[in-house]
Order: sequence, then C-alpha cells, then structure tokens
Amino acid sequence: MVELKTPGEIEAIRAAGTVVAEVLGTARAHAAAGITLKELDEAARDILKKAGATSPFLNYRPRFAPIPYPAVICTSVNDAALHGIPNGYRLAPGDLLSVDAGATLDGWVADAAVSFTVGEGSEDDARLIAACEDALRAGIAAATPGGRLGDISAAIGAVGRKGGYGISTDLGGHGVGRTMHEDPHIPNRGKARRGLKLQPGLVIAIEPWFMAGGNDDCYADDDGWTIRTGDGSRAAHVEHTIAVTADGPVIMTLP
Ligand code: MG
Repeated sequence: MVELKTPGEIEAIRAAGTVVAEVLGTARAHAAAGITLKELDEAARDILKKAGATSPFLNYRPRFAPIPYPAVICTSVNDAALHGIPNGYRLAPGDLLSVDAGATLDGWVADAAVSFTVGEGSEDDARLIAACEDALRAGIAAATPGGRLGDISAAIGAVGRKGGYGISTDLGGHGVGRTMHEDPHIPNRGKARRGLKLQPGLVIAIEPWFMAGGNDDCYADDDGWTIRTGDGSRAAHVEHTIAVTADGPVIMTLP
C-alpha cells in the first residue's frame, strides 16, 4: 500500500536526509587508497551517533538475506553494484566505489547513495558514473504530480540504454517513510505513462544503477548480500530520496 506523507512528515524525512548526506560526504572524504571499507563504516557510525540517528541498514533482514545486514552503509567496489558489506578490503587507486547509506531520525527514514573513483579513475568509469547521475536527474525531473511511476522508470532507462549499459529490474527505487522499503517499487526501466499516478505526498528513493558491460544480468555472491554484475564489468549506483510536492519534486537527501 502506498502511503502519502503530510508536509510535516516530509520535513521529518528531510531532517533524516540531511544526516544521510553527511554520512555520504564523510565516506567520500575518507575513501582514499589504503583505507578499509570497515573504516568507512566506522566513520559512518560516528556521524549517525552524533546526529542522534540510527541506521535502517543495520540488522535489516529481507527474505532473500541469509544473515541480518551487519553494517550501517553498503560499500560496493568495482563489479559489486549494490549491498557490498564493508570488510577489511583496502581501497586501491582507480577503484570504483558506491556507498549507500540510510538514517532513521525521530522515526523517519531517508536513503541515498553516491559513486566515485578512488584517486584518478578511468574515463570509462567517469562516463558510467555520469550516466547514473544524469539518470537520477532525469528520474527526479519526471517525479511531478500528474505523471506516473512509469515516467520515472522510462526516464532512467533511456539514459542507461543511450550509454549502452546493462540495467537490471530486480532492484530499484522504492517508497520511503517509517521504514526503508515501502511501496511502490520503481524499476530502473519501464514504460512511460504506466503505473501509479504521482501525487503530492509521495516520498520515494530513486536509485539508478548501471552495469558497464551492457549485460542486464547480475547475481548475489556467496555472502548472500553483495550484488555483482553477471559479466564482471563495473557498476555504479546513485540515489536520492525525494518528495513529490505540488511544486514538483524536492530532494530530501541534500547537505
Ligand atoms: Mg534505496
């Protein structure tokens, strides 16, 4: 069931979103060659604690997961696209890192992600990341009252396909509110003018992620969480939580 949020609830989600932006900014600032993914998770824990927030990721256990999620951020490196568990891996120059973070503040959740390269990255990675960011902008621009959910999917998919990238429809955007994953699901490709009608009060995470090899297949590796590209190519992922308002889409996860 899709629940619309009141203006007051949207402001509460925006407050959580400010914390998410701070977590992601800190991760980006810390993510130098030689730093472990675990250290990035520890830095994120500090930010959440100082803000009086908790992580909706920690101990999250959807049906597919063999273990509760053990960290407060997801750190997905190179061929890992989503849900990479922060471990002892030390970042190396040229790695493509996606960081996904959420915060729960006063009972309301926000969710966002960024992708970047460690130090000097390749031109291919820069192009992949830029395509995800363009798709995010296009998806957000389509989130206007009177439009439909499929307009967001179609806008994202068009950017990804133009770049020649693989796009899985298994994991995508979602409603956000009291919990991290609410209805509706928002696939990263689909048909315009189809699906749920967009109304003021709808709060959703829009999260394009593309696979450089152009293949749409992905798989969960042995830890049961990390989603990797089927062809071993690199992936990037970006995300904002946004609110549909009478004045158009408003991003909740900005500093
Ligand atoms: Mg999300």
